[in-house]
Amino acid sequence: MNRRVVLASGNAGKLHEMRALLARCGFELVSQAGFDVPPVEEDGLTFVENALKKARAAADHTGLAAIADDSGLEVAALDGRPGIRSARFAGEGADDAANTARLLESMAALSGSERRARFVCVVVYLRHALDPVPVICTGTWEGEILTAPRGAGGFGYDPVFLPGGMRESAAELGAERKNALSHRAKALDDLLRALSREPGMNANLSV
Ligand code: IMP
Repeated sequence: MNRRVVLASGNAGKLHEMRALLARCGFELVSQAGFDVPPVEEDGLTFVENALKKARAAADHTGLAAIADDSGLEVAALDGRPGIRSARFAGEGADDAANTARLLESMAALSGSERRARFVCVVVYLRHALDPVPVICTGTWEGEILTAPRGAGGFGYDPVFLPGGMRESAAELGAERKNALSHRAKALDDLLRALSREPGMNANLSV
């Protein structure tokens, strides 16, 4: 059985990564780009609400099952900020460098365990727009915030994120290692397990 699922994201990198993974349990992932899905205002108070909103809009507009994700960085000593505002911590339209500079500035007086942080990724799957029991999977990646950026890889806060137990920042790890360890990888891994238990799917999938 092959089930078409729309990915509620215009990000080609995400589509590529998730498509390969989901093909293993009989899902054909298609981009929402070809469907003219109207943009969604990410005004939820949680990653879950924002991901659900994106998935629901895509499912509603395409008539297909939908997957969406939402992610960000959480610093406990900043009461969870930047959190759902990670992409615009330094203001609407701010770029990665400005958001990272704002983070370092906000944490200038913090040291030791106060610099702990984690990336969080929530992935949701809706069988249809009105699905009352969405599949919700969460992945986290624990670490700490460096005092200055290091490395040129990755995106977002990667240059200032030192994953727990590692010497390299997330921007120095290289895509392959990051993609094996990250919050997104963990959430997707969980999603894959959940989808393999869906009726008609390959329940013996070894993940
Ligand atoms: P989105 O869920 O892909 O829209 O990500 C929201 C924001 O969270 C991004 O713009 C980044 O600032 C931050 N973020 C999420 N995942 C990562 C990551 O893997 N590395 C660095 N920053 C991330």
